[in-house]
Amino acid sequence: MSNRFEGRFAAVTGAASGNGRAIAEKLLADGATLAAIDLNPDALESVFGDRPEILQVQADVADQQSVKAGFEQIADAFGRLDILVNNAGIVKFGTFEELSQAEWDQVFAVNSTGPFLVSQAAYPLLRAGDADHTRAIVNITSVEAHIVISSSGHPQIHYNASKGALLQLTRALAVEAAAAGIRVNAVAPGFIETPFTAEALAKDEVRDWLLERTPLGRIGKPEDVANGVAFLASDEASWITGSTLFVDGGWTVY
Ligand code: NAP
Repeated sequence: MSNRFEGRFAAVTGAASGNGRAIAEKLLADGATLAAIDLNPDALESVFGDRPEILQVQADVADQQSVKAGFEQIADAFGRLDILVNNAGIVKFGTFEELSQAEWDQVFAVNSTGPFLVSQAAYPLLRAGDADHTRAIVNITSVEAHIVISSSGHPQIHYNASKGALLQLTRALAVEAAAAGIRVNAVAPGFIETPFTAEALAKDEVRDWLLERTPLGRIGKPEDVANGVAFLASDEASWITGSTLFVDGGWTVY
């Protein structure tokens, strides 16, 4: 815990669950003022309802009108933004031969188009952010943007492709946003214990396989992801842009 984000305004998508919730808590603990964005208002209320200092923003990151309305709310409340974390994402499974276009489109809409829409809506606020600090966008990709873990028994070509698109969005936007003093980086988590992975991790054979395959010998925690995000969002990372920080216990090393 530190005060490194004191006086700074942050927004996190998918903030009501798993990694997003841990990221939100970390930024808050380090002093940021927070907009928690999520699809389900009841989930936001049940997680953040007893903390009026947190701005709850219901928005569907895949819907441009909804994103615009959400950022109008943030603009009214904060007037500017210093940190944006594109964390909301979905995973679906299905073999390539059986995958419908609707399933493909849905995963891309949330995982790739969502960060584009949210970053674009946030951009004027980030440009207006605290010029004494670099402002930061952190996108949550996945090790699955870089490698394909087909041996998990869960074919997910649309998820892989959508995270690959987000990786390249990160790199391209890093170049374009640099002149505005905005850094854009990615955190690529390995397997993290969240509702997203609960079903897979409930199986002993999957858990044993993961533990055996992970050099650091444990499953990741949402707080591991949050610590990586906080670093990339901070001034300690002021000369880092277009990069990916792997938070995977060493999974992608070999
Ligand atoms: P999670 O527990 O399912 O949380 C995702 C949150 O995003 C949920 O609150 C969800 O709301 C929200 N969301 C989904 N679609 C949305 C939309 N269209 N608009 C706004 N919010 C939406 O998942 P997680 O494990 O924390 O994953 C978070 C991110 O980490 C994702 O981008 C995922 O790809 C990435 N990641 C996770 C792992 C892992 O092992 N867990 C590994 C690599 C990368 P609902 O619950 O209402 O749908």
